[in-house]
Amino acid sequence: MHFAQDGITMEGKKENILARVRQQVPALSSKMNGEPLVYLDNAATTQKPVQVLDFLSDALKNRNANVHRSMYELSDRSTSAYEGARERVRRFINAPSRENVIFTSGTTASVNLVASCFCSKFVGKGDVILIEADSHHSNIVPWQLAAERAGASIKVIPTDVMTGSGRSGRLDLEGLDGLLSDNVKMVAVTQISNITGLRNPVSQIISAAHSKGIAVLVDGAQGIVHEKVDVQAMDCDFYAFSAHKIYGATGVGVLYGKKELLEAIPPYMGGGDMVETVTYDKTTYASLPLKFEAGTPNFIGAASLTPALDFAEYLRNGEVGEALGSEEERIVSYMMDKLDTPGIEVYGKPDSICGKSPIFTFNIESINAGDLAQLLDKMGIAVRSGMMCAEPLLNTFGAVSALRASFAPYNTLEEAETFVRCLERARTMLS
Ligand code: PLP
Repeated sequence: MHFAQDGITMEGKKENILARVRQQVPALSSKMNGEPLVYLDNAATTQKPVQVLDFLSDALKNRNANVHRSMYELSDRSTSAYEGARERVRRFINAPSRENVIFTSGTTASVNLVASCFCSKFVGKGDVILIEADSHHSNIVPWQLAAERAGASIKVIPTDVMTGSGRSGRLDLEGLDGLLSDNVKMVAVTQISNITGLRNPVSQIISAAHSKGIAVLVDGAQGIVHEKVDVQAMDCDFYAFSAHKIYGATGVGVLYGKKELLEAIPPYMGGGDMVETVTYDKTTYASLPLKFEAGTPNFIGAASLTPALDFAEYLRNGEVGEALGSEEERIVSYMMDKLDTPGIEVYGKPDSICGKSPIFTFNIESINAGDLAQLLDKMGIAVRSGMMCAEPLLNTFGAVSALRASFAPYNTLEEAETFVRCLERARTMLS
């Protein structure tokens, strides 16, 4: 009964909180094709709050100077904002130190960095990289490239669809121990699948891998938005995410790594800022984290992680967190109920092992997902269609494309209801 105070009903208070949150994200009150925008493509990228928009504009006006290089006030301000954001990220994911936090250009860049540098140091002929069947292409292809260079191979943790033990689309961990053989050097896992929306039991996979001395990278591109992340409690060796999916700027990502591993692997790219001394013959490298930050970084975008993560924390704490959390629970049960209809196949059903985040991917029998998305767009609804960069997983469901509605904490049950109503209309029009 936390919300029921001063004669305001619990529902009324929750509505006020939601309205207050949504007012801070200007794009949410825009119109698209003459209709109020219902933005349900948050797994692709999130809309930005005014705090981030103002920060970006202010930084370009008042703090635009290259970082770490100069002895003048403007550059100091820029460096402070950039390094301040590193500290903000450290706190957000509970990394032990700022040295564990590397700025990259996104989750994709973070995974590529680890795949390339870890494999060149620790992976050789005959070794194995274990990936998940529900991986985004960015947690598959970098490993294929690196494994090919090292003479290693890729094995896959299957889903229940692949092993025939079910149709939920969740990972089947029955055979995990057998897959973790001596020659496996890395397990690349996904915290929350961008297709099924299922919350994978990453801690279970990490402890199984660690019991055999195998390192684990976690793709947190979706997880960072929908779960509270504590990299020390999770005990992952590497954790990757993108700023743009958590209300920050595009072209910025984070790689968390354990210090001993970041120190052991070679740099990824060479260039300015990642060096200690350079001669024509030899270079010694800067210490962490700059060893992995060659060239001019996206310093303004990276600095925007400070207001972005402040906003993310505001959305998950206190009475705002309580209100949004309860709205999200209602959205998940409403959507799963409405999609549980003859002729609709949903990819990703929760069970006692895997909870469901508000990401819903499905197909309607005999209707093209792209046609549905186009019709929904005419009704003001932005959803994704296609393979969502997870072609192998979709193929395991027997699909070549699908429709995905992905909600952020600022979305409402009312928007879910609008979506379902419009989907039914579009279905009728296309049948
Ligand atoms: N991993 C997952 C699970 C994703 O959903 C995405 C993007 O959708 C990525 C990785 C890649 O993120 P980015 O394109 O920001 O590098």
